[in-house]
Amino acid sequence: MKRAALLLAVILVVASCATTSQPQGQSLVNRAVQAAGGADALARVKTLSVQGTVRQWEPEQSMDAGGEMRFACASTFTMVTDVASGATRVDWVRNFQYPAPRTFTFSEIVTPDAGYVAGIDSNGRTKQSLESNPPAHSMSAPRLAASQRELRRGSTLLLLDMQKNPDRVSPAADVTVGGTTYPAVNYRAGDQTFTVMFDRGAGLPVRVRTLDYDNIWGDVTYDVALADWQTKDGLTMAMSRTYELNGRPVMEIKTTDVKVNAPVAAEQLTIPPAFKTAAAKPATGAVPYQWVIRRQFIGTYLDSDAISYDPKASPGLRLVELAPGVQHVVGGSHNSLIVEMRDYLVVFDAPVGDATAKWILDAARAKYPSKPVKYLVLTHHHMDHAGGLRAFAAQGATIVTGKGTAAHFRRVLAAPFTRNPDLPSRDLKSTQIIEVGERQVFSDGTRDVGAYVIDNPHATGLIIGYVSDAKIAYATDIWSPGAAPLPDKLTPPLAALVAGVKKAGIAPAKFAGGHGSVGDYAPLAALEGK
Ligand SMILES: [Zn+2]
Repeated sequence: MKRAALLLAVILVVASCATTSQPQGQSLVNRAVQAAGGADALARVKTLSVQGTVRQWEPEQSMDAGGEMRFACASTFTMVTDVASGATRVDWVRNFQYPAPRTFTFSEIVTPDAGYVAGIDSNGRTKQSLESNPPAHSMSAPRLAASQRELRRGSTLLLLDMQKNPDRVSPAADVTVGGTTYPAVNYRAGDQTFTVMFDRGAGLPVRVRTLDYDNIWGDVTYDVALADWQTKDGLTMAMSRTYELNGRPVMEIKTTDVKVNAPVAAEQLTIPPAFKTAAAKPATGAVPYQWVIRRQFIGTYLDSDAISYDPKASPGLRLVELAPGVQHVVGGSHNSLIVEMRDYLVVFDAPVGDATAKWILDAARAKYPSKPVKYLVLTHHHMDHAGGLRAFAAQGATIVTGKGTAAHFRRVLAAPFTRNPDLPSRDLKSTQIIEVGERQVFSDGTRDVGAYVIDNPHATGLIIGYVSDAKIAYATDIWSPGAAPLPDKLTPPLAALVAGVKKAGIAPAKFAGGHGSVGDYAPLAALEGK
């Protein structure tokens, strides 16, 4: 009898351990569902119509390296979701402030297996967008994957999905953010894992985190912080969502209106067959989420399956010889320049990321087999022209940067990058960095290659390059030769370039661009005083 009682006690203890510890994660989810109005309230949502405003900033397009973020865009949106089909439409009015003020009005439709954009949403348009009348295109695989991930992260119904799929919920270690420690669970959705943190008091979710890779800062956290919970039209939801990259707010979404179960016409959520048939499926694996998401913040995202070029418009990156031993890397959204010296190479710019950098390094090795890249000159610190620096540093290149930027790049090169899809993790802290005060000339006795820092409105410490024997200069972002006709008068960036050439005392015949192609310098210089 005593034995039986003891056995029963043991069984009870084991059972209670099982009920409290094993579904620990699920109990946080259940509590959050309850706090958000209960499963029934969430499950009655068949369609959801939301209006709101968005403000976005881009930290890696700042004026100063590591300095204040550039304000990128203010938008209004209307979003409708049909829960059963998993389709969402967002109608946007986006007022971009950077790189130049402009307004894009367009619509996105995101379904489980395809994505579509009606209208112009970017300066970097694909062949399909350019050839469609009215402008429209199907989303690339990376954009579809990123759109799906971010819609899921921000969804009010994420909690219900988590409750319905307990097999995809697992306990996570507590997470401390801003001095507060939150209990958390991991939630697997597709090949992505969200870490969902909960408020100890109210039980509501406070943050949804992914562990991302950023081409400048390496391993980063990307969070949405949920706040201002209100019950609208019977649904309890966070009216304020702030997205943080490594703790820095880069996007604020404010919900201004909510309608539950308002009728949604089917055609609103239907991708036209011409665009659906050939549309990409969502990408899996190493999607460069931060690139895809944040290039859209500034309205310059090239919506193509290849990250740096449109495979339908370009056969890919290629070298164009501008003069003996001077190769312009073109064919993509961003260019660079390879200059051959007697024993080594100098490369200007490491655009996009390490995959592009590896293409440049491979092409340089094939062309000049015995000459390593000794210097990588970064014209400026922006993510789209510097994001491939690690691949160069990993091969032993010295990084050459403009005045006031070396400390920034030292921090960048010290950041861990275990999630870099293109380059194995390694210690790059000892990478040599040369900070150019005003000018630096690399010489091998026959060829001089100069790096000149110029005053300009685009980025502090911006460098232009010059190969004196070939009379070829190189500039990024302040002039994109060949991308557009010259204006009638000098714009501030072009005036800065003309003044910079004078101050440097160089005499270029041509400029090669970090964007665009090659242009004669004389017609630009002739605009001075007009
Ligand atoms: Zn730039």
